[in-house]
Amino acid sequence: MKAFDVQQVRDQFPILRQEVNNRPLVYLDNGATTQKPQAVIDAATHYYTNMNSNVHRGVHHLSQLATDAFEVTRRKLQSFIHAEHEHEVIFTKGTTESINLVAQSYGKAFVKAGDEILVSAMEHHANIVPWQMLCEETGAVLRVIPMDERGVLDQDAYQALLSPKTKMVAVTYVSNVLGTINPIADMISAAHAVGAPVLVDAAQSIQHLSLDVQALDADFLVFSGHKMYGPTGVGVLYGKERWLDAMPPYQGGGDMIKTVTFEKTTYNALPFKFEAGTPHIEAGISLATAIDFIEKTGLDVIQAHEEALLAYAEQRLLDNIAGLQLIGTAPHKSSAISFLVEGTHPYDIGVLLDKQGIAVRTGHHCAQPVMDQFGIPGTARASLAVYNTPEDVDALVSGLERAVTMLR
Ligand code: PMP
Repeated sequence: MKAFDVQQVRDQFPILRQEVNNRPLVYLDNGATTQKPQAVIDAATHYYTNMNSNVHRGVHHLSQLATDAFEVTRRKLQSFIHAEHEHEVIFTKGTTESINLVAQSYGKAFVKAGDEILVSAMEHHANIVPWQMLCEETGAVLRVIPMDERGVLDQDAYQALLSPKTKMVAVTYVSNVLGTINPIADMISAAHAVGAPVLVDAAQSIQHLSLDVQALDADFLVFSGHKMYGPTGVGVLYGKERWLDAMPPYQGGGDMIKTVTFEKTTYNALPFKFEAGTPHIEAGISLATAIDFIEKTGLDVIQAHEEALLAYAEQRLLDNIAGLQLIGTAPHKSSAISFLVEGTHPYDIGVLLDKQGIAVRTGHHCAQPVMDQFGIPGTARASLAVYNTPEDVDALVSGLERAVTMLR
């Protein structure tokens, strides 16, 4: 494992030098979006300064530069997630669009009335609502894999739900609220045993855990650039070639066609079949730099650093804040620390932490069913990234002590 110098990492993120409310910024809202290293910001500027033009369309110099840079990212993504083929990497605008694409396109080809779609009790709305919409359109039924009070999925119940009627299992690798790391490889092989494909929502794992779509045997895997130190507006749908080939296009337009007449249109090959219209070019290009950042730092190093920080943070919070309850206590967790403090509202906690320069997220975190299961309206959530330090955790704990004293 490479040696890790957190200060050297922090130095690459200009926004971390900011003060908020006259205090040094302590950024603990990485589950919502991560900050960007200078190199990613520079890559976007470089594109607009030196090669702005449309991709895949021009023979001219600038268009070729932009197309080459855009396609470099696709190849980096391919190797980052260990996809077999480059054309199995589809650019979308983010996790949400990737899931909608699969729900609509796979759904049109493979889902009919009476079929079942399984999601888990800890999904983000982005991995619930598109499936619900598909069920409404087709008469398929949405079934839910339950979880216990720690935020651990019930694997026996999952096995019992799987059947030949199951046409898709859509499950998150890491919960954005509870931090639970799900046993995704086992869940995929169980689904395959009944012939069901699996969509893995990797929005909260791609920046924390290394993964290999071939080793996992994932059918689809989705994530967003902006949660992995990259730009907003770009995301990824990985799909196995045989599924993507068998699925109809999601949107029609430029780039996704081979020939068009008013009578009949033929579609382009993968990946372009699923990339209608001008993509978010600058984001696609600068995402390559975000992958470089992660690879240079090392995902094993990132994971070890964040695991140690998570353990430190949970212990310090429990030891120092009377009445603090962690929501999400699974044995295998990553990054997210959701909590409530007796006698206080998470929104007030968020506001009083912000006054001290500490950014956390409050609310239902786009996972209302999780809140319903725990019988709570929301939580405060601190979520970690590679540039966070024990000092950030200490600031959170003392900021929280102050906030709680004011609120009680
Ligand atoms: N799934 C999970 C687990 C998430 O955490 C998020 C973002 N909070 C999403 C999906 C949606 O991602 P995006 O808004 O980037 O499309």
